[in-house]
Amino acid sequence: MDTKDSDRKGKTLGPRGGTETSHVRQSFSHGRSKSVTVEHKRKRVVVPKPGAAAASGAGQSPRNAMGQNLSDAEFERRLKAVEAAKAQEAERQAKEREAAEAREAELGRLRAEKDAAERAAREREIAEQRAAAAAEEAAAAESSAAAKAKPAARTPDAAPVDPAAAQAQAARAEAGRPVAQKKTGDRAPVEDKRTRLKGEDDRRRSGKLTIARATNEEGRQRSLAATRRRQERDKRRMMGAGGEREKIVRDVQVPDAITVQELANRMAERVAAVVKTLMQNGIMATQNQTIDADTAALIVEEFGHKVLRVSESDVEDVIVQASEEDQSNLEPRPPVVTIMGHVDHGKTSLLDAIRKTNVVSGEAGGITQHIGAYQVATEGGAKITFLDTPGHAAFTSMRARGAQVTDIVVLVVAADDSVMPQTIEAISHAKAAGVPMIVAINKIDKPGADPNKVRTQLLSHEIVVEGMGGEVLDVEVSAVTGKGLDTLLENIALQAELLDLKANPDRLAEGAVIEAKLDVGRGPVATVLVQKGTLRRGDIFVVGEQWGKVRALINDQGERVEEAAPSVPVEVLGLNGTPEAGDVLNVVDNESKAREIASYRERLSRDKRATLGSATTLDQLLAKAKADKDLRELPVVVKSDVQGSAEAIVQALEKLGTDEVRVRVLHSGVGAITESDVGLAEASNAPIIGFNVRANAPARESANQKGVEIRYYSIIYDLVDDVKAAASGLLSPEIREKFIGYAEILQVFKVSGVGKVAGCKVNEGVARRSAGVRLLRDNVVIHEGKLKTLKRFKDEVREVQAGQECGMAFEHYEDIREGDVIEIFETETVERQLA
Ligand code: GDP
Repeated sequence: MDTKDSDRKGKTLGPRGGTETSHVRQSFSHGRSKSVTVEHKRKRVVVPKPGAAAASGAGQSPRNAMGQNLSDAEFERRLKAVEAAKAQEAERQAKEREAAEAREAELGRLRAEKDAAERAAREREIAEQRAAAAAEEAAAAESSAAAKAKPAARTPDAAPVDPAAAQAQAARAEAGRPVAQKKTGDRAPVEDKRTRLKGEDDRRRSGKLTIARATNEEGRQRSLAATRRRQERDKRRMMGAGGEREKIVRDVQVPDAITVQELANRMAERVAAVVKTLMQNGIMATQNQTIDADTAALIVEEFGHKVLRVSESDVEDVIVQASEEDQSNLEPRPPVVTIMGHVDHGKTSLLDAIRKTNVVSGEAGGITQHIGAYQVATEGGAKITFLDTPGHAAFTSMRARGAQVTDIVVLVVAADDSVMPQTIEAISHAKAAGVPMIVAINKIDKPGADPNKVRTQLLSHEIVVEGMGGEVLDVEVSAVTGKGLDTLLENIALQAELLDLKANPDRLAEGAVIEAKLDVGRGPVATVLVQKGTLRRGDIFVVGEQWGKVRALINDQGERVEEAAPSVPVEVLGLNGTPEAGDVLNVVDNESKAREIASYRERLSRDKRATLGSATTLDQLLAKAKADKDLRELPVVVKSDVQGSAEAIVQALEKLGTDEVRVRVLHSGVGAITESDVGLAEASNAPIIGFNVRANAPARESANQKGVEIRYYSIIYDLVDDVKAAASGLLSPEIREKFIGYAEILQVFKVSGVGKVAGCKVNEGVARRSAGVRLLRDNVVIHEGKLKTLKRFKDEVREVQAGQECGMAFEHYEDIREGDVIEIFETETVERQLA
């Protein structure tokens, strides 16, 4: 609209008295607008003064303006001007109507547009945070645009709208702007939308957990999150009325300690949710942190799952259960043999000789692989497994680790050297393990060989060979010439038959590690002697603190095999770490089980290392012996300075024994306490007694590590006294009974609330309330128990002396009669001493 025109109108159409006015709103481009007053004069009341006509101008009605003093030309001119103004006015009004209609249509469209956009935005919000954030941004941008358009929006009742502006709006709306258009007079929804978006955003962010949030805004946050979870849960439940989407309530195994992550896994919940729940319960824990069973149980319940409490040691239950043997499935298995003896008596030579001649299915002269054990066949076809690691150190350390692998010990004694210190040690070890022995008298080919001397010397160590009327099999052999080797094998087979060795091949395998190493090319490798079941490729197992999956099995011939039956040694590949010799291998159902057991064991051994030095002390033995009623034996290892004192000590200790307890000297010898002694002591849970000798450095170290107690003495009596005290502790205390009195029942009353009460007279000794009582009828005990009351006249008393009368009632017993006799006695426990 022309500004000049409006200016002129402003001047000429000012309000006057007696005029009708109306307001018209005019819009301009760039959002500007202006209110214009329109006047209609009906009647001229005041005659304008001369010259006023110029001032009233074109706005005056032609008739009104037709003053007498006006010329015709002037009148004509004014009339034209007025008509022109009228026409202009009519045109403008038509335009305004048009614009108003356009605006109405526009508003309608915009509103629809806006609704659609809002709906879309809401959907996006629910669906996805990012989309919603974008929507918010767009909304913000739009509302700033609306803010710019605000001047135009201030008076919504003003009808006219600049069509250009309206068109611009329409164009923008049609351009497909995704978000609600904020239009004139529609400010409030903008605000609503913004605040709502903001609120939602807050709530969304609350899913992100910060410590500050969790601690400071706990209540609010929990309620929001909880509400949403509950809503979701409800929704899911409703949707899954068919049962499909229903939340699965899991049985969650909760061990003594569990990491947050593992707990979340077991519940199949998100780790973050678990961490959050922990925080809500006041526990700050990251996903890798370990929480105790109580806390874990609480969390499991909070998530609505079922808690299955398992003690930590329960993780081993699978193994224990698997170990319980079904007797019906047992099949004979080959014996496992360890060769022991003094150094240079020919252990290695013997093992080699046996192997070369008899290796099972081995090509003669073929390259054999040392894997720590091998299997041979006798001429009769029986198989025998030899452990290729001679020496009692390996034997004992394995036993100490819980692997009783050996069935038979072959004791090698050189015929030219006879019984030597390590021979005796070997005997002690075999005896301690309770493994039968076969004596191989070696080097029989040597000129100075004297096998009978060997047999005789063995007698003094309680080894009575067959030739001397005993039961121990003995064979004369030569590792060099091969003489007697077959007989030795046959004897082993014979002994094995006597032992009736059996195992179930149809179960999850269990075995013992003979050797283990970290191979450069193959990773950790362990030679495992299968003891039960059959080990197969692909089996998942736990071995000591390690676990793994059998990648390959290699036999003693270096061949790959698919499986290994009981008593078969195989190299196992596929471990995640190197186990130790003596570790027990167990096949388990699945990897998680294997991991769980392995990590439990690792923890256990860590804990054990932390509390070292107390595994085998006399005191502990005592405690253990007391708890275990069957163990009435105190094992000891004795080392002394000279043979004489060693014998004296052993004799003195063995004399301490009675029918109930005995001191068992596992081994006695002369000289310093060695690692071998410590190993033996550890394997049998025995302390070591050193008489005028000390442990050497490695033995001290080893004893410290293994927690074996070493006691030093220099006076035999002290030593014997200590051991006696320890052994006495194994005796069960004696319970002695002391008779303290008799009372005779004179009369029997019935007292309401108490029952039958005996009116008695104490004939002998005293009657005591706390004592035990027996009811005798014709000198036959008919009841034994306790007193409920002991009354003298009306008072409850603790004691009643002989000659006095009293009232007595029995606990839980009513059948009392006149003339019965009550025997009163007390018991005392007496700690017994060995004589
Ligand atoms: P280990 O220390 O017990 O393993 O004994 P070895 O097997 O190393 O043997 C020690 C020595 O005795 C070696 O030189 C062997 O050659 C030798 N030897 C082993 N057995 C016999 C045998 O039966 N006869 C003879 N003459 N020598 C043997």
